[in-house]
Amino acid sequence: MKLIDHLINGKSANFSGLSSTPVFNPASGEETARVVSGTSDCINAAVMSAKEIFPEWSNTTPIVRARKMFKLKELIEFRQNELAKLISQEHGKTFDDALGEIGRGLEVVEFACGIPSHLAGNYTSNVGRSIDSWSDYQPMGICAGITPFNFPVMVPMWMFPVAIACGNCFILKPSERDPSSTRLLSEIVLEAGIPPGVLNLVNGGKETVDAILQHKDITGVSFVGSTPIAEYVYSEAAKYGKKVQAMGGAKNHMVVMPDADMEMVGDAIMGSVFGSAGERCMAISVVVPVGEGTGDKIKEIVKPKIENLKIGPGLDPDSEMGPLVTSDHLQKVQNYIDKGVEEGAELVVDGRNLKLQGYENGFFIGGSFFDNVTTDMSIYKEEIFGPVLSMVRARDFDYALDIVNKHEYGNGTAIFTSNGGVARKFSNECQIGMVGVNVPIPVPVAYHSFGGWKRSAFGGHGVYGMEAVRFYTRLKTVTGRWPSGHHSGAQYTFPSNN
Ligand code: NAD
Repeated sequence: MKLIDHLINGKSANFSGLSSTPVFNPASGEETARVVSGTSDCINAAVMSAKEIFPEWSNTTPIVRARKMFKLKELIEFRQNELAKLISQEHGKTFDDALGEIGRGLEVVEFACGIPSHLAGNYTSNVGRSIDSWSDYQPMGICAGITPFNFPVMVPMWMFPVAIACGNCFILKPSERDPSSTRLLSEIVLEAGIPPGVLNLVNGGKETVDAILQHKDITGVSFVGSTPIAEYVYSEAAKYGKKVQAMGGAKNHMVVMPDADMEMVGDAIMGSVFGSAGERCMAISVVVPVGEGTGDKIKEIVKPKIENLKIGPGLDPDSEMGPLVTSDHLQKVQNYIDKGVEEGAELVVDGRNLKLQGYENGFFIGGSFFDNVTTDMSIYKEEIFGPVLSMVRARDFDYALDIVNKHEYGNGTAIFTSNGGVARKFSNECQIGMVGVNVPIPVPVAYHSFGGWKRSAFGGHGVYGMEAVRFYTRLKTVTGRWPSGHHSGAQYTFPSNN
């Protein structure tokens, strides 16, 4: 059985006596590997190796760190098929979808290639008599990233490229459910000539996370995952004096106005609800048709599309949707569908109990669609994280906006309309971090930044883009004077330009 261990100081680090957890191929249901759970000893070893290299790495010129990023980009591109295959084999998503996540991660590496300009500070002459002042963004030291299962390559790449390009060292703790692609990614970082210890990878679950949160030499923590764990990481990391950003879960609404292009809406719903089997934090899970008849039109267009979804193993080129990540997650999604029926929603398409010939033990489920969902139902309130669409009908635009704003999550949303004024009002007044106008999955590009509002994100700064440069650096401002012959004697008042 394949054993996935840690990568510390550039070497495979298999500490003796550590426990391990199973990794499955979700298409076949087979256990294909075991991943070693890191303890505080492993985190200590990772921190020691990072501390050793930090003085040298942080003093490397930004242009040299940028060159390492260019090399990293080239190597990831070269090995992207290998990475995508590993993602699909452990996550379940289709091969093309896996290539898509690698592509978006690569864009962050491309952003990090511009680090010399991103790190530029500013300088002002004569802030006082013969006094100049300059501000500089300096690295934080040792940062850590804790990542979810649903993007095992992209979410780590949201974090470490910018962190290390800024001159930090980084400890990555990927999801224990699909760790192989992240492990390969960290080997590619070494191949790119980034010195051992700059990026260390430690696998594991809660115990490993706690060792990170409590370690006094780790100064910053980035987390992406579910809201309860994001809240936990946020408060624990803050308790131990760390800078922390923690992205959480979501319930993303798509508001559809009566004047929207309905064919476009149908395709947008299919891709954004059922792509990656709904296991995306920016997946649409609620559609809110506005006005009489809009919901019926959506139902007519979308129902046959859901019934005809091509479901199969992620590595089958004909598959449009793969399995869910684990049997536990499959059970959880099925339980939500049972609950929706009990709560009185109308189940238009039932994806439960799907069995695929030859893949009977796989974690497959069909697409499901509920109509007449109300905002007090648990299928509406909670994040299901599966291929389940809920339709909540709204009598008018204000009511639809109110629904969106009252939800506890505020990650993403979209409006479909051909009216610019309505789109503008929606974008302006919705209490959501990322908004799409006729764009169903408005994940910002690498040179903007990603981040939700409300209970979808805790702490300061978004991930990647300039927000990440600010998160992974500390501002230092120097105010200086060189002797110029002029000396006015001791000054007992607070220095000012009065
Ligand atoms: P998760 O919260 O279960 O796990 C995330 C990470 O936390 C993993 O590395 C895991 O090992 C660790 N972890 C799990 N339980 C822990 C505990 N009790 N104490 C400490 N650490 C723990 O999330 P997941 O199921 O891997 O990923 C799916 C979730 O992530 C969804 O809620 C999704 O919306 C969210 N997500 C959010 C974003 C975003 O940017 N907002 C992006 C991707 C995924």
